[in-house]
Amino acid sequence: MGITIETIDPDASLPKRSDVIVIGGGIIGIMTGLFLAKEGISVTVCEKGEVGHEQSGRNWGWVRIMGRDPSEIPLGLESMRLWSEMDKLVGGDTGFTRSGIVYVADTPAKLAEHEAWLDHARQYQLDSRLLNSREIEGVLPGCKRAFAGALFTPSDARAEPQKAVPAMARALRRHGGTVLTRCAVRGIETTAGRVSAVVTERGTIACSQVVLAGGAWSRLFLGNLGIDFPQLKVLGSVLRTEPLDGPPPYAVGGSDFAFRKRQDGGYTIAHRGASTAEIVPDSFRLFGDFLPSLVKQRHELRLHLGARFLEEARTPRRWALDEVTPFERMRVLDPAPASNILNEGQANLIKAFPAFAGLKIAQAWGGFVDAMPDAVPVIGEVPRLPGFFIASGFSGHGFGIGPGAARLIADLVRGARPLIDARPFRLERFARLERTTRAE
Ligand SMILES: Cc1cc2nc3c(=O)[nH]c(=O)nc-3n(C[C@H](O)[C@H](O)[C@H](O)COP(=O)(O)OP(=O)(O)OC[C@H]3O[C@@H](n4cnc5c(N)ncnc54)[C@H](O)[C@@H]3O)c2cc1C
Repeated sequence: MGITIETIDPDASLPKRSDVIVIGGGIIGIMTGLFLAKEGISVTVCEKGEVGHEQSGRNWGWVRIMGRDPSEIPLGLESMRLWSEMDKLVGGDTGFTRSGIVYVADTPAKLAEHEAWLDHARQYQLDSRLLNSREIEGVLPGCKRAFAGALFTPSDARAEPQKAVPAMARALRRHGGTVLTRCAVRGIETTAGRVSAVVTERGTIACSQVVLAGGAWSRLFLGNLGIDFPQLKVLGSVLRTEPLDGPPPYAVGGSDFAFRKRQDGGYTIAHRGASTAEIVPDSFRLFGDFLPSLVKQRHELRLHLGARFLEEARTPRRWALDEVTPFERMRVLDPAPASNILNEGQANLIKAFPAFAGLKIAQAWGGFVDAMPDAVPVIGEVPRLPGFFIASGFSGHGFGIGPGAARLIADLVRGARPLIDARPFRLERFARLERTTRAE
């Protein structure tokens, strides 16, 4: 059975004008809208399908600072602060709980990598610490696999993806924002070189600024504007169990399994060491950009050539604004999970933690991660398109750092001094971004 995600009621009418228009109703778009609306700015979020039904509703629900790229730690810290008051902020239940995250290491070499990251943790006074194998027994009782050690962060957390973003969207509406579902944005209009409107499938909305928070669709959208955004999709496969007593209450990641306790008493489970890289035309176009990360992740990525190649080859990469676009043809990206990967992950998990032996699978699903070559998002204005901002490419960790990232983009949009240094996230770090793509 596939995934069930909460839905919000549709907003009836399309406004004629909104100061800011956000494209995409995932955690990034909705939280950006919420921060702007709280500042009294008129904001409209346009979502082609349903709010939070793509990555933001399909992820593992880990809210983690541990192991982050150093450039993302300030975003992680601000996000954690925001998450810890999230239920109050949105007046709803997002399931946020500081339940701790453990990374177990099979080998001394892997443990040494974790230890190296602790240098960053110390700078920010994080409570991350190493565990030796005896201490692992205390933290993870019932663990039957011998690990060289572990990295443990008690203050890391989890939240519930299947309901968190819909709760945030309801809060955005209460603060006066508009959230339009089943309303794909086809493109933008400019006046004297500045963004002046977006064209949606339901009509045009005038605006002064636009934020693209389109997740795995951002590359396609930007391609039509002549911007070559180096983003690929990687398929993650996930399952959730019925309520289960016995396994540890933490989120735990090993080399070949991952689990975390859920608010409903079940567990969300995946194979941490295996994702599917679908071979598509973009794999060849972006081969050079992704080669270093492909080499680094060669043991974790399983290349697959299937129906998706033809599907993407047939997807138009250019369209006029009065034409039906690929965004309207695919309301929700809902790929099938890779059952072999799920089966392996489950078997590895049961071997390591026999308490999972009696698990009953309630649902299984797939989700496409929007991956960037350096696994760091782009957050900022497009220099040659004043008023147009990108917040995309969260590379598998935008749920946890989403609130801080949204806060940053909202600060940039309203011209406020940002709390966090935005320079590591500038799109100019990809020299080719400013290169105009060839229409094919
Ligand atoms: C299997 C899996 C596991 C993950 N686990 C974790 C985790 O444990 N912790 C973590 O921090 N992160 C995790 N992530 C990553 C995290 O889910 C994402 O980084 C985050 O949700 C990205 O949010 P977003 O708003 O950018 O994108 P999305 O949630 O994908 O939202 C983008 C939205 O834009 C809409 N859209 C696109 N184009 C248009 C258009 N033209 N018009 C209108 N709407 C449009 C789409 O329909 C979509 O709803 C995981 C992801 C996956 C897939």
